Amino acid sequence: MPGTALAVADASPFVAPAASDQALASPTLTTILISPHAGGSAELAGLLRDALPTESVLTCGTTTDAIARAESARMFGRAAAIFLFDFRRMPVPEIAEQIRQVRKANTDAELVAVVDGRDPAVFAACLQVSQTPDKVTFLVVPFDQPNAVSAIRTVAERYRAVHSSNDALGHRDRAIGGLEVQVQELKARLDIAKHTARHDDLTGVLNRTGFVEELVARLTRNRRKQTVLMIDLDRFKAVNDTLGHDAGDELVRKICNAVSDILPAGGVLARLGGDEFGIVIEAPTDQAVHDLCGMVLRVCAQTRRVSGHEVQVSASIGVAEQEPNQSEIELLRRSDLALYAAKRDGRNRYRIFDAALDKATQHRLSMENGLERALSSAQFKMAYQPIVKAETGAILGFEALVRWNSPEHGQISPADFVPIAEETGLILDLGDWITRQAFKDCRKWGGLYVSVNVSARQFLRHNVAERILRYAAEANVSPNLIQVELTETAIIDDVERADHNLKILRAAGVRVALDDFGTGYSSLVYLNQFAIDCIKIDKSFVDNVTRDRQSAVIVASVSRLAASLGMSVVAEGVETEDQRKVLIAAGCGLLQGYHFGRPMAAEDVTLLLDG
Ligand code: C2E
Ligand code: CA
Ligand code: CA
Repeated sequence: MPGTALAVADASPFVAPAASDQALASPTLTTILISPHAGGSAELAGLLRDALPTESVLTCGTTTDAIARAESARMFGRAAAIFLFDFRRMPVPEIAEQIRQVRKANTDAELVAVVDGRDPAVFAACLQVSQTPDKVTFLVVPFDQPNAVSAIRTVAERYRAVHSSNDALGHRDRAIGGLEVQVQELKARLDIAKHTARHDDLTGVLNRTGFVEELVARLTRNRRKQTVLMIDLDRFKAVNDTLGHDAGDELVRKICNAVSDILPAGGVLARLGGDEFGIVIEAPTDQAVHDLCGMVLRVCAQTRRVSGHEVQVSASIGVAEQEPNQSEIELLRRSDLALYAAKRDGRNRYRIFDAALDKATQHRLSMENGLERALSSAQFKMAYQPIVKAETGAILGFEALVRWNSPEHGQISPADFVPIAEETGLILDLGDWITRQAFKDCRKWGGLYVSVNVSARQFLRHNVAERILRYAAEANVSPNLIQVELTETAIIDDVERADHNLKILRAAGVRVALDDFGTGYSSLVYLNQFAIDCIKIDKSFVDNVTRDRQSAVIVASVSRLAASLGMSVVAEGVETEDQRKVLIAAGCGLLQGYHFGRPMAAEDVTLLLDG
């Protein structure tokens, strides 16, 4: 038999320190008296009120009633804390049953049993069915009123102590539960924010941040070799400019979807910027890379309906394949380099990075840097190549060709550095220098003309015609002794502006030659609407005139057409007597090439002409 329960059954241990007034002041407890004896219950109810004057006391005749009232009290936040059983004159089984029922419905309530005597069977029954013997207290009649009051207060105190810590625990659990929800929500929001930060609004694919993260993750996992494709749409700006940004967006979305459809398993597509995409794949073979590039090019070049218009663009692709221990930065740099090379090579193509490309790029970079200094440190010089009358070989003029003697790289061909100067914009200042220098030198040639190359960027410059004429005036050279050589792109890139400038130059007496004819669109009839005096047939045709009849035929028909449009023809790059003969037969009036003279320094021109 549990000693503690029996110990409290004794009247004396009930004398406990009185419960503090503060504890009693909070009316949150419900005390329920269960007594089948109407008269006796009044006495016990009085005892409860004496002990706990601020708490509510309910009196019930049966346990069923008691349990029901306890339940509704609980619903109002006043838990049934103490059940006082009037077990006087009650059979043991009945006592046990009452305890059992109440205990079942109110597991944490304190039970106080008022019993007749010290019948061990009663104690035993109560303790046995209560399951928590330490919550059963016995008041043995006749009891001493103050002791009983004190005992009940102690029980109430104990209930409060246990319950308040339970309450605190519950509160803490609820708080933790709330926190967990908050954490979950935060996490969800964070996930959404992360998703937004990693994805592109327009297309829903990864953005640059997401792409780099993905790449890093793949490189760290160190699985199979990763391959990066950088894709840039060619001439996308034109779509934006002519059809508006909505159309541009629609096109980007459509192309993105189409590329996404052909992505191999495990591949990831990202939109890195306006019209730039990135792909990372695990490509098992070179062939797989080539195949994918080919497919992407085809898919991008499809004609699409955008804002009611048929639109077609192309793409350029730069590819870099992962090498051991390579960082994502290096991989991206390489694919970027390859992309720019693909663009330079003429767009609508892919280029795979290799070491040579890296070297070429380094070289280019160092040339770019060198070019910046070259003009101010007088590293450029002009060379002049004679243009002769085909029949007689008499010199009619000279083409001005710039030369760069770089301290780092030695002699660099203008074919290499002029395109760079075009890209960096240096061509504007350099072009000014060339024009002025050429005009100055031309003054010494006794009426022979100078033919100056003007690059596309130069020619699209504001007031270019006035500028050329001003330099001519400054050098005191008649515009009649000046020819400008333009390529088709210089005219076609901005037809209106070109037309305007050509008219000014023509009106002043400057002649206009179309350079590198045969390498571009080459519609003479189209070009005839512009003020053009002369076409220069590209060396690539001249090279073949003696070897294959087809070239000779082309040169002949071009010459005839030019003549009928009132233009003269210069054949460039003539190196042999045989070529000269064929070209004369084909109708070229003017020739230029090593056969007649290499480009030479200004001093040598003077010597040649004086000699
Ligand atoms: P281009 O305007 O077609 O110039 C003709 C090029 O052919 C020159 O090369 C000339 O030296 C070369 N050439 C002439 N005859 C022969 C020949 O018989 N055989 C061979 N193999 N080559 C011959 P260069 O001087 O290296 O210039 C290359 C290109 O650089 C020029 O092609 C032109 O596009 C550009 N360039 C040269 N000087 C200037 C310039 O002052 N301004 C601008 N904007 N571009 C220039
Ligand atoms: Ca030229
Ligand atoms: Ca040329």
